[in-house]
Formats: sequence, structure tokens, C-alpha cells
Amino acid sequence: MPLAFLPQFHPDELLYSIVARYGRWGRLRTGRVNENLFGTKSIKFSYDLPLQIGRLADTVGADLPLTVSEIVRDHTLLPFHTALRERGEYDELARRMVAGENIQRTLKGTRAVLPWPDRLRYCPECDDVSRRLYGTPIWLRRHQLVTSLICLEHGGILLASDVDVTWGRDMTYRPASDHRGDAQAIAFPFSGEAMMRYRDITTYGHSMLGSQDHRDGWSPETDFKALARRKGFTQGMLTRGVPGLQSMLKTYPLPRTRAALIEEAETHATFTPRKLRWMFEEADRRGEVISLSKLLGRRLFIDRDLVRSEWKRYYEGSGRGETSGSTAG
Ligand SMILES: [Zn+2]
Repeated sequence: MPLAFLPQFHPDELLYSIVARYGRWGRLRTGRVNENLFGTKSIKFSYDLPLQIGRLADTVGADLPLTVSEIVRDHTLLPFHTALRERGEYDELARRMVAGENIQRTLKGTRAVLPWPDRLRYCPECDDVSRRLYGTPIWLRRHQLVTSLICLEHGGILLASDVDVTWGRDMTYRPASDHRGDAQAIAFPFSGEAMMRYRDITTYGHSMLGSQDHRDGWSPETDFKALARRKGFTQGMLTRGVPGLQSMLKTYPLPRTRAALIEEAETHATFTPRKLRWMFEEADRRGEVISLSKLLGRRLFIDRDLVRSEWKRYYEGSGRGETSGSTAG
């Protein structure tokens, strides 16, 4: 079957999102999408560093609206993953990625070093903007960075969708227009200071994502490296010209930032109890009690058993909650 059309590439849209929209509009099964776009039925297409861009160019040919280099630069996370490497490494890694070589381990290391998101992230207000502009929400690239905790445009904490992007996932393409019932905040702002830190980390990541937009202004400098070494960084880890990096360094040296990221990328098992406890304590301060049925009814958390046991631990365990089941929350 010939390619009917390839959807328009919107600014900052993940290539994954474009592929998913293609499948949805054509009502195509995953195998058919892969065959039409990449010439082969079974592939593992990753949302961040897809290894099939060369195949896409071969299959779609002249219908491809952008060059391979533009797709890599503007619709994948390669510029983010190479931002702290030596100048010139980007070109080499881009070439290898387009050739289909697996560069994931080289660039991302293992999850033990730094946690990578398990789910695609989104901002509901950005979705509204995309609906107005394009008629449909799209997966935005800038929200998928491990450093992206908030939406810089709208100020809210990003939500984790139910679209699994872990290695063992089901390979179905899920457009951003899919219902996202299990959405959860990816971090919890327990203070204004935390919110500022989230903003700084997010801003820093965005500038890393833009590292290939102004290539000439982005090169490692020896004096900067000296500064980095004094701050305890390894040589070559950091580059000059990433906007915001200087102030970032002053306020949050990278080892601390990294620790903060690990802390914020908690599993639901630790995140949910912390968030629940905060909600219960806030309710206490207002002289209210959160009812279990209302809490479960709001569907804020995936793990209902965990919600139930945390509620019981807080209210029943502390002897506060004899009448709590019927009180407004
Ligand atoms: Zn937004």
C-alpha cells in the first residue's frame, strides 16, 4: 500500500508523535505503520532516539518534508543527550543514529546512573494550545526530558500519561489525543523553593535541547572547563554557551541537581504515600478530614490499594478517623 500522506511536522513535536498520528488517521495497525514508513513490519521505535530515520527517508523519499538532519535536530532528543559532550560528537552520533546504529547505551547509560521517564509527559494547557493550533494535541519534545518537571509556558507540574515508554513496552503507537486516564503529576511542589528548583532544572534541560540550534555559540572553552573542574565536574562534561548554565552552576552544582532528579523521579510506591500524607495534613490544617470514598473517586492515583492502606494508616492508625469516612474532603 502506498503512503497516503505523512502528517505535518509541528514545532517541537516528537517524531514518535508524528508516526502515531499517521497511524491513527489512517486507522492502521502498528505493523502496517511500520511497513509504510520504515519498510519493515517489526521494529522498536523509541520516542527519544529513534533509530529508523534513515529508513524513513528511504521509504518516504521525496515526500519527506524535512531533511534527515532537520528531523534529528528538531524532532528527537539527540541534541539534549549530546549537549554536554565535546563539540563534534553530535554530528558523529547523528550519523550513527540515522544509520540505525544503537547509540542508546552510549548516550543514556543505565537507569542506575540517572532515571529516565517511564511515561510520556504532557501539560494539559499545552494540549489546549495544540488543539487550537493543529486541531489535536501532540507529544511535545521539550516535556519528555528527564529534567522537564514543569511546563515553562504555563507554570504547572507536568503530568505523566499512561503511555509507557520503557524498554519492555507494547510497541503500539499512541498519539497524544488518546485518552489518558491515569495521569499523575511527575513531581510534587511541597514548597515555593522546590518549585523554583524545578523551574531551574527544567530551564537548564530546555537549553540543552536547544544546543544544536546555535551551534557556533556552543563550544567547550578551557576557562569554563577549569571552572567546572573547580566545581568538581569532570573535564568535557560541560560546555559553554548553554544559556542559564552559569547561574545553574552557582545555585545547584550538578551532583546536587542529579540527586534532586533522582529524588523527584520517585516510583509511585514512595511518591504516592508522600503526596497523600501532605494532602491529609493540609486537610488537618483546614480542620477537615478527607473521606476515603471521595479520594478514590477522584482517581488521582493508579494504585487504589496503596491509597486505601495509606488512608487507613493515617486516619485509623492515628485514632483520628472515627467519623472520617463520611466527612467531606
Ligand atoms: Zn504548557
